[in-house]
Amino acid sequence: MKTVTFEKCAELLHNADNILILMHRSPDGDAVGSGYALAHALRKAGKKVMPVCSDDIPEKYGYITDTLEVQNFEPEYIVTVDLADTQLFGDKLIQYKDKVNLCIDHHPSNTGYAEYGIVDAKAGACAQIIKKVINAMNISIDKNIANAIFTGISTDTGCFKYSNASAESYQMAAEMIECGADGFFINKLMFDTKSRQRLEIERLALNSLTYHYDGKIAVIFITKEMMKKSGASDDDTEGISGMPRQIEGVVIGITIREKDNGNFRVSMRSAGDKDVSAVCAEFGGGGHKAAAGCTVTGTAEEVKEKVILAAGAAL
Ligand code: AMP
Ligand code: MN
Ligand code: MN
Repeated sequence: MKTVTFEKCAELLHNADNILILMHRSPDGDAVGSGYALAHALRKAGKKVMPVCSDDIPEKYGYITDTLEVQNFEPEYIVTVDLADTQLFGDKLIQYKDKVNLCIDHHPSNTGYAEYGIVDAKAGACAQIIKKVINAMNISIDKNIANAIFTGISTDTGCFKYSNASAESYQMAAEMIECGADGFFINKLMFDTKSRQRLEIERLALNSLTYHYDGKIAVIFITKEMMKKSGASDDDTEGISGMPRQIEGVVIGITIREKDNGNFRVSMRSAGDKDVSAVCAEFGGGGHKAAAGCTVTGTAEEVKEKVILAAGAAL
């Protein structure tokens, strides 16, 4: 992947049309915010463009997705946002894995699968890089773009609470509010609103909580059975991964979710300076130093043991 400047990135996008913007599977606020902010901006520049995701975008992001009219076209230029690895394209988008023209991302573990790219691991959210791309293209930021960028920054920094929230994160968020973003509405919806199903899955998940290595590691295990019992969707479990790390004394918080065919999705969160991205890399995953993920295959017991051992070695 050839690293490009913001000027070059703007030029590439100005010269492109019929642009498909890929977001990662199980889309989060940063993926959706980055994808839709860039799409809105490129529409203003007269482009045919559509953000796409292998999974359905959770309904709570409707205030972002509903503002962009659907366009159908034969894609000519492929851009990815917030997408570290082709593993995360998902079934519907995997066809583009060797065809990505431009990658805009903030994961240090980005595998460099694209032709051109901007990867800034210092950015708290990919949406912060998108904002700079839009500025470099000389496109003005309207309310729709501002809401999308604000959402990306706010969600990836855990409502400005995580270590990745930099002065730039706060400054850009403030600028987005000046451009019309509804910060109160977005933060209330993202952080102070939970579905009943979410509360039910939290209740069950907490019952599964175990401690290891003198309480330095805490593990939550979510089975398919628990998902069924609570009526929760994947969307409802987003953010649960942050819970084990909240416990006093916990250095690494782990959430394991049972998926199909003996696959388990593992989310790791570091409370201090331990690098969980490196731990997840041992299982072919990645992410950020303080928040990373991977998929591990086996029986529930095997997966749990392997993952706890690997995390324990990182203490
Ligand atoms: P999650 O626990 O799924 O919320 O993921 C935490 C962070 O790690 C996110 O920024 C993900 O994009 C990233 N991540 C998760 N799984 C992988 C993977 N298999 N490869 C690379 N990055 C990942
Ligand atoms: Mn993301
Ligand atoms: Mn992100």
